[in-house]
Parts: sequence; structure tokens; C-alpha cells
Amino acid sequence: MAVQAAHLESDAFLVCLNHALSTEKEEVMGLCIGEVDTCRIVHIHSVIILRRSDKRKDRVEISPEQLSAASTEAERLAEMTGRPMRVVGWYHSHPHITVWPSHVDVRTQAMYQMMDQGFVGLIFSCFIEDKNTKTGRVLYTCFQSVQAQKSSDLSHLDSVTKIHNGSGNLLSKDEFTSLPNVSANQWRTAIMVFTKNLCSQMSAISGPLLQWLEDRLEQNNLRLQELQLEKEQLVQELAELE
Ligand code: ZN
Repeated sequence: MAVQAAHLESDAFLVCLNHALSTEKEEVMGLCIGEVDTCRIVHIHSVIILRRSDKRKDRVEISPEQLSAASTEAERLAEMTGRPMRVVGWYHSHPHITVWPSHVDVRTQAMYQMMDQGFVGLIFSCFIEDKNTKTGRVLYTCFQSVQAQKSSDLSHLDSVTKIHNGSGNLLSKDEFTSLPNVSANQWRTAIMVFTKNLCSQMSAISGPLLQWLEDRLEQNNLRLQELQLEKEQLVQELAELE
């Protein structure tokens, strides 16, 4: 069954975005780790940045070794969180080109879906400059591949497609009519939702990500210490009661 929507944690979103903005010379890619709930919503908690195995600049392929390393990481996260984490998707960037999946993307996606129906693809289109306002624009989408019944099938996209353009705007219906005609395998997009509204403001920042994550880690460690102290106190109180 097709995925209904994808929720991307803001931390994971920031990593994807910064990775996508790290180079405009070639496409970058990575894998998404998370879980699929009973409503067929994919929750992406973490992403893994991958090195390209195919040097051709528009070819983003994931090697079996990379996939298995990602599975190991997912297992580690599952153990850590007690949640059924696994590899749930992949992302790649489209520097200077449209956010729509290419023919190759749709084929690659179909291949992953054969192994896992809940697998999703994310695309981050970046370095698109608005000629009038001279401002950059980032578009991102989440898509799945669907087997085409007939060529008129694209019409059903209207109801399921929402592409966020970073400032929270949605592409208008007119923009769908200029969709590339994808034969054999078509694609549909899932609505991508962010779990924290922080993201919309963060898209302007790309440099201080590491610092930000390090600060967070430090904060988490402090909180952990606090909680451990509290636990010790409680255990002691409990012992006194007995
Ligand atoms: Zn692509």
C-alpha cells in the first residue's frame, strides 16, 4: 500500500538541507531512517549522508554495502530508542534543476519499493535563483513510484500532491500541468510535514549546523546528568521508606 505522507524531523531536515546546499556541482544523496505507522505515515527520525558510488554527475545510486551499513545504524537506533527503526527512504539533491523526479529517479524508486512498499524518495531542489527578486529558492518533495495503468493517470496527482517551497507556499495547480510525461512508471508525491515549525526559519542558515547540533548534544548531556541525579535521589528516598 502506498504511503500517505512523510513526516521529517527538523533535525533530519536540516541535515538534508545542508547536505543539499553543500555543493552545486553534483547531486548528493543519503538514506532516511525511521518508522512507518499504522496510518501509512512515514516518520523520518534520522538520515545518513552517503558518498556517491557512481561518479556520473546525475547518477545517484546506493551500493549494497551502503544499504547494509545503514541497516546496521537503524538497528542501533532501534535498540537505543526502543522503536522499530529501519531504513525507510532515500534523499538526493537536484542542484539547479527542477524538484520533479527524473526517469532514472522513478526507476530507482520503483526498485526500492519492490523490496519495501513503504519506501519513500525525497528530493531537494536547490540553487534555483529567482531572476526578479535575486533570491534563492529551495523546493523539496517526497515521492513514490506507481505502476501506470494508462497515460491519463497523472490527473490523480492533484489530490495528493503538495510541494512545499520552503516558504510554506504550495505550487499552484497550473504548475502541475507542465509535469514531465513519465511513462511505464509514474510517480506520486506524499505530503511532507515537519514535526517542528523551526524548519521554515532555519532554511536560511547552512553554516552553523554543526555548532547547533553540538550545543544540543551538550544540553542533552546536562539534562541527562540532572535526571540521573534525580533518579539517585528518588531511589534513596524509596530505600528510606522501606
Ligand atoms: Zn534525481
